[in-house]
Amino acid sequence: MPHTIHLARFQQILTPDEILTDNQLIEPFCTDQRGRYHGQAFAVLQPHTVSAVQEIMRYCHQQHIPVTPQGGNTGLCGGATPHASVAGKGIILSLSKLNRMRKLNLADNTITVEAGMILAEVQKIAQTANRYFPLSLASEGSCQIGGNIACNAGGLNVVRYGTMRDLVLGLEYVLSDGELVSHLYPLHKNTSGYEMRQQIIGSEGTLAIITAATLKLFAPPQSVLTAWIGVDNIHSATSLLAALKNHFAERLSSFELISQAALRLS
Ligand SMILES: Cc1cc2nc3c(=O)[nH]c(=O)nc-3n(C[C@H](O)[C@H](O)[C@H](O)COP(=O)(O)OP(=O)(O)OC[C@H]3O[C@@H](n4cnc5c(N)ncnc54)[C@H](O)[C@@H]3O)c2cc1C
Repeated sequence: MPHTIHLARFQQILTPDEILTDNQLIEPFCTDQRGRYHGQAFAVLQPHTVSAVQEIMRYCHQQHIPVTPQGGNTGLCGGATPHASVAGKGIILSLSKLNRMRKLNLADNTITVEAGMILAEVQKIAQTANRYFPLSLASEGSCQIGGNIACNAGGLNVVRYGTMRDLVLGLEYVLSDGELVSHLYPLHKNTSGYEMRQQIIGSEGTLAIITAATLKLFAPPQSVLTAWIGVDNIHSATSLLAALKNHFAERLSSFELISQAALRLS
């Protein structure tokens, strides 16, 4: 079926500003941040609502149109740009306009946000409420919560707070046929049933489109101390990590090994 027919259907679902077809406008979405991966799509769709995501997925499923979900496009392994095998045949589904905060719950220490919210924005909202969201990475000014979840992002504070897998309490996502699955529970102690959200976390957009998440918040650290320690080899570094963990227990939040080669670059 020609793309014009698909575009006519998308125009029924979305407003004109949510559909990009101009090659110049599409190009930045088709290339990853480092310029290593180049894909092709006949349109970039940027829905503002979950129901529009459902409609898009339902139609693409019926018509066998390949869909590449995209967040901030900062991923390092090419998952956010269309694969060569579907060049020009599919769409990029950008979640960047689905970016509202749904709920800040200070009693439960949780925040529920839509997938397109930029990570730094979540950190800022938490800080303003005298809370702390610990996921922190160099791309935090452009990567999105949906992308962080899809990649199971780690970042600087994994030693204490874990990866994104440990920070997500509830998840809302759309399956390939458009069905909405909503488990946005703020429950910290949830002992019931199967744990489906853990299948979606880290699935790199292959299983579902993440549309919203309920995330854990923490009390902000009262003071932070950073030590710069020189070691001769990797064995000394791992011994040092073990000693620091024994001494500081959960108060140790980060431990980064910087090689001489990396230091020379700075
Ligand atoms: C400078 C820099 C530093 C980084 N540092 C770290 C680091 O310390 N630790 C670390 O773990 N990673 C790091 N990364 C990579 C990191 O995974 C990404 O920056 C971030 O997690 C990806 O988010 P994004 O919104 O840009 O996702 P994208 O790059 O847009 O997408 C990544 C993957 O997720 C899928 N996806 C995106 N949104 C959705 C959605 N809503 N639903 C379903 N699938 C979706 C895409 O299809 C793709 O497969 C770094 C990257 C850069 C550029």
